[in-house]
Amino acid sequence: MKVPLLDLKAHHEPIKAEIFKVFEEVFESQYFILGPQVSDLETQIAAYCQSDFAIGVSSGTDALLIALMALDIGHGDEVITTPYTFFATAGTIARVGAKPVFVDIDPVTYNIDPEKIEAAITPATKAIMPVHLYGQVADMTRIRAIADKHGLKMIEDAAQAIGAENAEGKRAGSYGDIGCFSFFPSKNLGAMGDGGIVVTNQPALADKLEKMRVHGGHPKYYHKMIGGNFRLDAMQAGVVKVKLKYLNRYTQQRQQNAACYIDLIRKSGLIEKGIIALPKAVYADSGAAHYHIYNQFVLRVKDRNALRDFLLKEGIGCEIYYPVPIHLQECFTYLGYKTGDFPESEKAANETLALPIYPELTEEMQSCVVDAVGTFYQSK
Ligand SMILES: *Cc1c(COP(=O)(O)O)cnc(C)c1O
Repeated sequence: MKVPLLDLKAHHEPIKAEIFKVFEEVFESQYFILGPQVSDLETQIAAYCQSDFAIGVSSGTDALLIALMALDIGHGDEVITTPYTFFATAGTIARVGAKPVFVDIDPVTYNIDPEKIEAAITPATKAIMPVHLYGQVADMTRIRAIADKHGLKMIEDAAQAIGAENAEGKRAGSYGDIGCFSFFPSKNLGAMGDGGIVVTNQPALADKLEKMRVHGGHPKYYHKMIGGNFRLDAMQAGVVKVKLKYLNRYTQQRQQNAACYIDLIRKSGLIEKGIIALPKAVYADSGAAHYHIYNQFVLRVKDRNALRDFLLKEGIGCEIYYPVPIHLQECFTYLGYKTGDFPESEKAANETLALPIYPELTEEMQSCVVDAVGTFYQSK
């Protein structure tokens, strides 16, 4: 049986009629950029993300970029973040002219290790940008305390974590000055193209973000600041609104799939043999409903590359997130980092593999995935 890493066709088929209705509505209105679809979505996402304001933008990357710009972060400033993340996290810091300063991850959650943040703070540090990797909230209680103690801004890269909660049920994006989300189709709440959104609780910041989204002009054509074209399309906003209605169900299905994998992998005996380590949802027993939203289900495994090759050959989708930590990317050579600087990030980059976890995955498919993993290690 073939099992893809993601099956958007299966995901969208049950809501096809609702989505086509949106296409028709937008077509009839001829209102293609911003407008009522976008402002409706903003109201709904602000509520969903426990924030006062939401501003729709053109992508998750642009959400990070506009957040940095709105907080006046630029040349001479340093921003602390994790090297084990999608490129955009550090890429946007560099694009505003600031310097990304990396701090290693906690090997259990793969999120930035709060213990190590203070040692990286210098007089040039302006902000901390934690990432809620794979759909689990970073240790925000401690990171918030560090940011407050040192007077630092906080931008959350919540691209993989919409709705994810910590032990108190507080949601990703609501801890920082600005929370950033992506509607890339493979995210838990995806559009049918590019899109993103930022959230904040600060009225002045919301106002600035809204102006910066349209080049910073206010009134139109009169500029006190430089923004950009960070607008969200009406069509994408309409699609996301339809899917937002079902997001809690999608999250539950992902959590059920994770539980099923955990059960199957435990039964395989590969954990005791030290061959596989399961992902750990640290807030699982807290009672928070969205303790982990499983944008990815990531194992730590022996012989990772060979397992990946075997699974792909068997028709089982899997992926390495991310094979090269950001401090070792060629474009960041100028920062002066070297192999060995962040051992946990480097180990994670070499040892982890993501399995299919999308909501429509069946138990039969999951058995097939775990059987294939078992077959690979038996043959060794
Ligand atoms: C997807 C992602 C982004 C970028 O989002 P886009 O919408 O693709 O621009 C940023 N950070 C993280 C951690 C992501 O996973």
